[in-house]
Amino acid sequence: MKVFLASTAGFCFGVKNAIRIAEESAPALTFGPLIHNDHVIRELEKKHIVCCEDMEKIPEHERVVIRAHGVPPYVYEQLKKRKAQIIDATCPFVRKIHTIVQETEEDEQVIILGDPDHPEVIGIAGWCKKTPLIYRSLNEMEETPPPKDRKYLMVEQTTFDQTIFSKILVFLQNLEYNVKVCHTICISTEKHQQEAIELAQKCDAMLVIGGKNSSNTRKLYNLCLSRCSQTHLIESASELYGIRFGSEIETVGITAGASTPDHIIQEVVRKMSENNLFEEMLNESYQEVHSGYVVQGKVLEVTDTEIVFNIGYKCDGTMTKAEFGGTDAPLQDQVKVGDQMEVKVIKVGDSEVTLSRKRVIQDKAYQELEDALTEKTVLHGKVVEALENGIIIQYGDMRVFVPASLADPRRIDLKTLVGIDTDFRIIRLQRKRNRIMGDRRSVIAEQRAKLRQATIEKLVPGARLEGTVKNITNYCAFIDLGGIDGMLHISEMGWNAVRNPNRYVKEGQKIEVEVKSYDPETGRISLTTKFPETNPWNGADEKYAVGNIVTGKVVRFADFGAFVELEKGIDALVHISHLSNKFIKHPSEVLTIGEMVEAKVIDFNAETKRISLTLRDIPGQEEAPAEEGEFVEEVVYEEIPVEEGEYSEEEIIDEAVKTQEAGDGPAEE
Ligand code: SF4
Repeated sequence: MKVFLASTAGFCFGVKNAIRIAEESAPALTFGPLIHNDHVIRELEKKHIVCCEDMEKIPEHERVVIRAHGVPPYVYEQLKKRKAQIIDATCPFVRKIHTIVQETEEDEQVIILGDPDHPEVIGIAGWCKKTPLIYRSLNEMEETPPPKDRKYLMVEQTTFDQTIFSKILVFLQNLEYNVKVCHTICISTEKHQQEAIELAQKCDAMLVIGGKNSSNTRKLYNLCLSRCSQTHLIESASELYGIRFGSEIETVGITAGASTPDHIIQEVVRKMSENNLFEEMLNESYQEVHSGYVVQGKVLEVTDTEIVFNIGYKCDGTMTKAEFGGTDAPLQDQVKVGDQMEVKVIKVGDSEVTLSRKRVIQDKAYQELEDALTEKTVLHGKVVEALENGIIIQYGDMRVFVPASLADPRRIDLKTLVGIDTDFRIIRLQRKRNRIMGDRRSVIAEQRAKLRQATIEKLVPGARLEGTVKNITNYCAFIDLGGIDGMLHISEMGWNAVRNPNRYVKEGQKIEVEVKSYDPETGRISLTTKFPETNPWNGADEKYAVGNIVTGKVVRFADFGAFVELEKGIDALVHISHLSNKFIKHPSEVLTIGEMVEAKVIDFNAETKRISLTLRDIPGQEEAPAEEGEFVEEVVYEEIPVEEGEYSEEEIIDEAVKTQEAGDGPAEE
């Protein structure tokens, strides 16, 4: 077996520099871990350089070393208040990013690509003049893109994945964002990642050495894993004994995170390189297969009930159908002789080894959940059950319990969640008791807040949005625009008079609306569906010019005349004096509701949107002339006052906002 060690493996310039400064300053405290490697932190403690994460516990006049990945300005302020002697070990590459974001122009907003929970990103964000936007992936940016109407300056975490960086850059360029890009990955990380990728592509197996809580090391591990499936993350040489390299592995590449000390790397290389020691390890694998080992197995035989494997041990291993963990289909349809797979040793007997593939899958799933717990990753699953005290989300083969208090931001009937696909986070994992607890509420609340912010950015008068009808009252409908509701008043529901909102819209209906107004202080959003291009009064001056003969339907009577609908949204009045040449007391004497009539336009007022008609002198419909003195009334329109008990405009809006706030506010605890 050939072993290749990456020339860039191990301490980077920034880490070496920080350790040298800290050692020269001993005894001293560091505010947070100086670097991300527990082994190094323990070594530093022996040299009286102690990590303290609580500002209140730092005594006055203490000597305090600032970590390699920097801190926000307020930490310096607090240390100064405690009269601390500050020794700054911030890596120059990180310091450079602080300077860049400090020098942004007044109208520029900073975008940081990186993990928002990583101390380096928290530090950089603290040096920005305005609150920056932080994205850790292209997905996040696609879900909540930066508003288009701003200028941006984009920087990245020094260890940011360059493949993701390039995808985000292409995304922003394609959408023509006004963004200035400062490429701030550190040279050391870039070389490190590049060399690791090259090694992973050419070797049969990879070892990545470093702290499992180090972002730098995990990125190296993920980069290698995506190119070499036999990639293992170890913290020290002692973990080599848990790994079994098959006989097909001829080349092994080794790289290490930027915080991994040289002596740990050398120990791993020594153990892997010494032929006789490796032979010894191989021999051990023949003679000592222990329960819990994961080994590579090759299928020798498949029957209805079990599979026989060669695992390189003195005897073969067997696996039952249940431990295979596949489907109900016959085993022969699921596995073929010659297939290779990872198997876990459950029991070692004198002449037989019992194996499981199901447990390898479970181990990996638990490892994935542990990573998700550590990195607070958002996962996606399906709600499959509602219990009295919570819900169950199915995630792969795992059932995740979410307590009722963490199931949704609102107090809802948990049964309504069953069947939906949803995002959630893991908040507790007890493998021995097979208990996995999740939190859906905070994820949904965060997503709603992001969605709400994105919707607010679009709320300019005249903007057209698609919304969903959330609830309907006697005088309006509330439309969910995406995290925030707007009010569609009955008078804005169309050019025709709408008397019952329930006849115009239905709950759950998708509807296009136009923003009439938005008040950021009160949060009131007024909407309309009276789109200018559908206004029936467009071109009405020509169609209903004075003297034109028109046809319409009699729709209602008043004491002073009859209303005729000329088209949807345009009613005209025939005053009682113009209904007949004879004297009549009420329109019903000569007309019936629903009757079609021909009439002549005698007045058209575009401003007041009023049209007056007459039935008296239509060609071919002449009646006996009126006798002198028969007509006494003039054509007069009357304002119809608000009747007692009806809502005034102000009452309607106040009531609407109350309903809107109640529907959108946080759930009561
Ligand atoms: S990885 Fe780069 S930025 Fe981080 S400490 Fe090392 S040299 Fe500095």
